[in-house]
Amino acid sequence: MASIFSTLKDDTLAAFDTLGSRAADFVHPTLRLGVTGLSRAGKTVFISSLVHNLLNGGRLPVFEAMRSGRVSKIRLEPQPDDAIARFQYEDHIAALVRDRIWPDSTRAIAQLRLTIDYESASGWNRMFSPGTLSVDIVDYPGEWLLDLPLLSQDFRTFSAGTLARADIGLRRDLARDWLALTAAHPATGEAREADARALAERFTAYLRACRADGRSLYTLPPGRFLMPGDLEGSPALTFAPLADLPEGRAPKGSLFAMMERRYEAYKTHVVKPFFREHFARLDRQIVLIDALQAINRGAESLADLENALTDVLACFRAGTNSFLSSLVTRRIDKVLIAATKADHLHHESHDRLEAITRRLVQRAVERIGGSGAGLEVMALASVRATREATVDHGGQALPVIVGTPIAGEKINGEVFDGRRKTAIFPGDLPADPDALFRPGTEGLDPGVSFVRFRPPHIEETGGGLKLSVPHIRLDRAMQYLIGDRLA
Ligand code: GDP
Repeated sequence: MASIFSTLKDDTLAAFDTLGSRAADFVHPTLRLGVTGLSRAGKTVFISSLVHNLLNGGRLPVFEAMRSGRVSKIRLEPQPDDAIARFQYEDHIAALVRDRIWPDSTRAIAQLRLTIDYESASGWNRMFSPGTLSVDIVDYPGEWLLDLPLLSQDFRTFSAGTLARADIGLRRDLARDWLALTAAHPATGEAREADARALAERFTAYLRACRADGRSLYTLPPGRFLMPGDLEGSPALTFAPLADLPEGRAPKGSLFAMMERRYEAYKTHVVKPFFREHFARLDRQIVLIDALQAINRGAESLADLENALTDVLACFRAGTNSFLSSLVTRRIDKVLIAATKADHLHHESHDRLEAITRRLVQRAVERIGGSGAGLEVMALASVRATREATVDHGGQALPVIVGTPIAGEKINGEVFDGRRKTAIFPGDLPADPDALFRPGTEGLDPGVSFVRFRPPHIEETGGGLKLSVPHIRLDRAMQYLIGDRLA
């Protein structure tokens, strides 16, 4: 037996694994829901609020199974995968609800199992269905998905592409130091560990600077350089692109040969296992994006977000990559792209945010020619940190949002202490999304307000129980992602 298996390719084994888990599904239905998005998009907050609302009978009118009273019990259960960290739901909720601070963000992959007992809506299903669905929520950094294109690129193509991108727009300035160091290290020079490390460090600093607040530039593989997970400080991340590669094979003992070998090792030992062991097993996926931030920053940022979305959506269209198509045979059947933090806007702008997001996704889909999976777009707030009001402004009713700015936030020179509430005019989004995408557009003026608010105060019921976390359209997201499996 062992000899047969050892002759099978890894990909074939993964296919067996998938079949095995499908067979187990038949006995106990499970749905593996991936939650991803680039760093700070709102993954941790989304999962925490989703679970809290389900466990605490939140206001979820659009989530049909809940509204119609067919859900009898929802509970957290031990997850089936011992090798993956558990999503620290209790800690995150304690931060959000008790301390009113935002929880620690996603740094690596984590998982949580939620089991729902329900009564099927149809008499036929009631007879055959066990009426229990386990939802395995898998939280992972979106940066890791951006590595997919690397699988079809050799070191030469990766180097040329990365260097070309560093020469455009805002990136040129940020890349200066790293490019100077690259120029001082010819690819044909001797391979030295210290040089490899220095180049990798400078390259990582460049990638980080592109992502840093105030710049918001996105499309930047290798993903683990920004989100290393458990590979922090590992030699697998000690490589960088090189300039002026000579024709033909890398000379033995050269820096070129060393970097090329490490780049290939990164693909084999880091990128492929992630897609094979985690991504290929997902059934549904939500991709969170901080569209508001990109909108505020202007057309270059939006174009960058669009590029990142194109790369992310390409992962759901298995046919474009032979490695991936050998693993995922249309397993993921629904993808939701959700613009988060809609509570920064007045409700009149929620539909506009959705229209802008749809526009972003549409262009990405046009470029890759369809995603292969069902695709939906929404604007939501996992946690509603503000409430709406109107103030009288010289006889005119002005729509405002009211919340408690985080300690240290400044509005018009005034510094907030984290306790005092304030009302601000959040700004409007344009009715025509195209206005934002014209090249050279500098972003909105005056822009959508970017005051960071504390999580809301959550009332207690008579019995001392905390009510559920307020949200915007979270129930719509639930209905799309799991509603049909509770039908
Ligand atoms: P992750 O890196 O994707 O896990 O991002 P987090 O879930 O940690 O969210 C990053 C930050 O975005 C949080 O610390 C909050 O400040 C903010 N945030 C996320 N979701 C919401 C939301 O629904 N409303 C508001 N007002 N802020 C949010």
